[in-house]
Amino acid sequence: MPLSKYRVLIIDDDITTIRLIAEALSPDYDVIITTSAEDGLKQALAAKPYLILLDVLMPRINGFTLCKQLKSNEQTHNIPVVFVTALAEVDEQAKGFELGAVDYITKPIEVPLLRARVRTHTRLYQQTLQLESLAATDFLTGLANRRKFDEAMDMELSRCQRGKTTLSFMMIDIDDFKAYNDYYGHGKGDDCLSMVARILKQSARRATDLVCRLGGEEFGIILTDTDKEGAMQMAESILTVFQEQQIPHASSKRGFLSVSIGATELDVKAHPDRDFLVRDIVDKADNALYLAKTKGRNRVEYVPLLP
Ligand code: GH3
Ligand code: MG
Ligand code: MG
Repeated sequence: MPLSKYRVLIIDDDITTIRLIAEALSPDYDVIITTSAEDGLKQALAAKPYLILLDVLMPRINGFTLCKQLKSNEQTHNIPVVFVTALAEVDEQAKGFELGAVDYITKPIEVPLLRARVRTHTRLYQQTLQLESLAATDFLTGLANRRKFDEAMDMELSRCQRGKTTLSFMMIDIDDFKAYNDYYGHGKGDDCLSMVARILKQSARRATDLVCRLGGEEFGIILTDTDKEGAMQMAESILTVFQEQQIPHASSKRGFLSVSIGATELDVKAHPDRDFLVRDIVDKADNALYLAKTKGRNRVEYVPLLP
């Protein structure tokens, strides 16, 4: 991404300072500004900047308090914060670092130093984001990996229990994939995994659906705010895509590539007093998948979370 795309948020109640910083940065950065801490938090959430330049002394909520709020919010806690202040005292600066700031810029602002610091911190943040995304991605298929799945499932389960909503989960396993590998070779097997990943990704259209490769030839889809009916509809549509595409699988008795799907649903409203574990949900989907395999493959089966 070119430097000019990095977004920097300036939060300062002093218009002269804002103007100075904005003028220094706007040739290279997408600069957004606000003069209050209250609006600063909103902007940070909405605009997802790569860096926040935060004034310490502001009326009502000061910079330190806002920094604390930013660092305790799941959506903003990673965004680097650089304090901008006239306070040269060591104690004040140390307090900022303790609250999670990455750096300080003191007033009067020296433009070359400002630009150098902003460049360093936006680049570091970009690298952090890249590493995070790499660590969450399955190399072969580009889907979310097992690690990301565990993290997302934890988060979605607590969200679901808090909001008393519904969550569905399905496990998808390629049928007779060992035979596919044996017949076509491991390289074609890898291509096949990528193809299946693409089909699943296209079938899960909502932005909140998370498709993952759980391992080997097994995939999972987390469907937030989706009930059994919605999950079963999606499962049927996945089966239909494979039926229609007729991807050759010469060593399977169907002659085309197919998958088996196991689905389960967590309806917190129906069981308000129960606590559920991620393991319960995955186990039930796994049971359902086993059923689909034993009943002849190329189908979906559903097992309720509670009997
Ligand atoms: P079933 O219909 O019961 O699911 O049978 P299956 O043959 O699909 O299941 P099995 O568990 O016996 O075999 C899974 C195969 O998946 C064996 C393994 O070689 C293959 N596999 C797992 N990971 C990869 C991979 O990354 N690339 C390739 N090419 N094959 C893989
Ligand atoms: Mg101020
Ligand atoms: Mg299989």
